[in-house]
Amino acid sequence: MSEPAVPAGPWYRQLHWQIFLGMGLGLAAGLVGGTAVADRVGWLGTLFVRLLKMIIIPLVITSIITGVASVGGGRSLGRLFSKTLGFYLLSSALAVLTGLAVLNVIQPGVGAEIAGAHSGELPELQTANSVTELLLNMVPLNVIDAAAKPDMLGVIFFCILFGVAIAGLPENPREKLLGLFDAAFQAMMTLTSGIIRLAPIGVFALIARVAGTSGLDAFRALGLYMISIALGLAIHMGITLPVLLRVLGGISPRVHFRNMVNPLTMAFSTSSSAATLPVTLRAVHERVGVSNRVSSFVLPMGATVNMDGTALYECGGVLFIAQVLGVDLSISQQFVVVVTALLASIGAAAVPSAGLVVIFLVLESVNLRGPEVDVIVGAMLAIDRPLDMCRTATNVFSDSCGAAIIARSEGEAGVDAA
Ligand code: ASP
Repeated sequence: MSEPAVPAGPWYRQLHWQIFLGMGLGLAAGLVGGTAVADRVGWLGTLFVRLLKMIIIPLVITSIITGVASVGGGRSLGRLFSKTLGFYLLSSALAVLTGLAVLNVIQPGVGAEIAGAHSGELPELQTANSVTELLLNMVPLNVIDAAAKPDMLGVIFFCILFGVAIAGLPENPREKLLGLFDAAFQAMMTLTSGIIRLAPIGVFALIARVAGTSGLDAFRALGLYMISIALGLAIHMGITLPVLLRVLGGISPRVHFRNMVNPLTMAFSTSSSAATLPVTLRAVHERVGVSNRVSSFVLPMGATVNMDGTALYECGGVLFIAQVLGVDLSISQQFVVVVTALLASIGAAAVPSAGLVVIFLVLESVNLRGPEVDVIVGAMLAIDRPLDMCRTATNVFSDSCGAAIIARSEGEAGVDAA
């Protein structure tokens, strides 16, 4: 399977340039045409996201089962699992600390005029209320129901166990099942390639809708807050993760970034790590050069639990709210914010605005609640989309860095070779 836009031929035939062009045209069309344009082209964006979502469950199921079954059970799976978890916790913790530092230095909430911002309405998303609940939720009562919801952690949990069971079978049934799932996985990847070709149009419509419905006014009141979060995300994506790539994997960040342009633009325009997963899987496998064995295991788990951008945002958002309310958080309260922000990011769904919904968990941990808090969160929601786009790109980038670093540590020499 070849990349639809290998960097050859004129630039305008390369997919990532087409996507950038779609973004630019979408922004211009939305800002000039306003809600009229947003209403007219919005459906194209919805159609594109629906196509991506359509393939997520079969792709994740076939990818994890083939990945785990080829890793085998026991020691080697345990090693891959510990490395994955270790990297994800490390990178998310660094992200939260960056958010903590930036918000404490800039203090965007001090003197912020929130009443001027329009408030929005939060989408209803289910989130676990405690770590125990998060763990219990991982075991689905009914696999079909988990896939239908979709409850990604439940699906991943089942597929890992199923993959381990296949690995433990005698040769004949094992090879049959593995061949079947592997063939299905390849078919899903081919389908993904076809859908990605539509990305420039989908991205155009998604960006036009955001720009057309939000305009620029809503963003002025919370400008400094937005700049602080964006700066934190830029530090994490532009310094922390590249350092981890270089130090832990011996990988050139520039090469890795170049190989990840398509998933990053997709994450940016869809605001959903889950919807981006098919594109991430494909790019990490085919461009970064990570084996299916590693990418199939690391990436679906990453899209679900590893959200560096969201973790940074949880911490930054809560500090911002405390600053607006004039509440001085002690060092120990800030520590509680750091830990709960990390856990909230693990529990957040990989869909648009999920990060803002789980912020209530973190606010509760330091007793920030009440109507004033609700008004500020409402205002934050009104300007959330551009921040969500940036944190989703950060989330996806962290997953791909994890996959590349872990693949290198498993002895895969060709990773990010060019
Ligand atoms: N939209 C983000 C994602 O899908 C989650 C968030 O809202 O922070 O990764």
